[in-house]
Amino acid sequence: MLSADFIETLKAEWFGRFDRIIDDRRTLPSSNLKCLDLCQARCCPRVGMRSMPAGEIASPVVVLLPFEMEYLMEKTGVSQTLFRRWPLAFAPGVTIHIGMLDLGKPCPFLTNTLQCSIHEHNPLDCRTYPLLPLVNGSGILEWELGENCPSLMHLNPKFARAIKDTWQELIPCLPQAWWDLYAFADHWTGWPPPELESAHAGRD
Ligand code: SF4
Ligand code: SF4
Repeated sequence: MLSADFIETLKAEWFGRFDRIIDDRRTLPSSNLKCLDLCQARCCPRVGMRSMPAGEIASPVVVLLPFEMEYLMEKTGVSQTLFRRWPLAFAPGVTIHIGMLDLGKPCPFLTNTLQCSIHEHNPLDCRTYPLLPLVNGSGILEWELGENCPSLMHLNPKFARAIKDTWQELIPCLPQAWWDLYAFADHWTGWPPPELESAHAGRD
């Protein structure tokens, strides 16, 4: 199969997964997180931070799943220019681009009223926080907690269980290269210099 055909097949498979994840969200128990009440500037940088220097904005790196950026664009009409795109060797001879929302500026989807403008389709990574998935050396899914989240003590265990089950189902579909990128992004400390960004972001 040609690389382009293979990528289209992969994309269709991932779109099917996202359809199911979105459907399942409608019956998820509440997370019980108190984002608006307790959070000043963590998960989604607050409007008041927009004038702050990039290095002072406390923002996560949101790493999208394979083809999640394309899915989000199709479902919400948002522009690809809002994402950083990072090349990922998905399979031998097959490179795709992973969408990311990263440090250094507020999320472009956060509204002035502190809502997520793409809430129904927002990335699974956003939905998962303050749970942080990782795979160990044996390919087993493990979990850490985002200790900076002020809502952590309110997290509903039933919601957490459902989110973990969602990720568990994705494990066979996610190459190690994606997990490597996910782990790398978690320790990212800022936007790379422009010359590196143009070299790595793969915008075309
Ligand atoms: S999940 Fe936690 S860190 Fe993120 S916005 Fe909500 S309270 Fe803040
Ligand atoms: S996509 Fe939505 S939930 Fe995720 S960081 Fe942006 S505003 Fe927050």
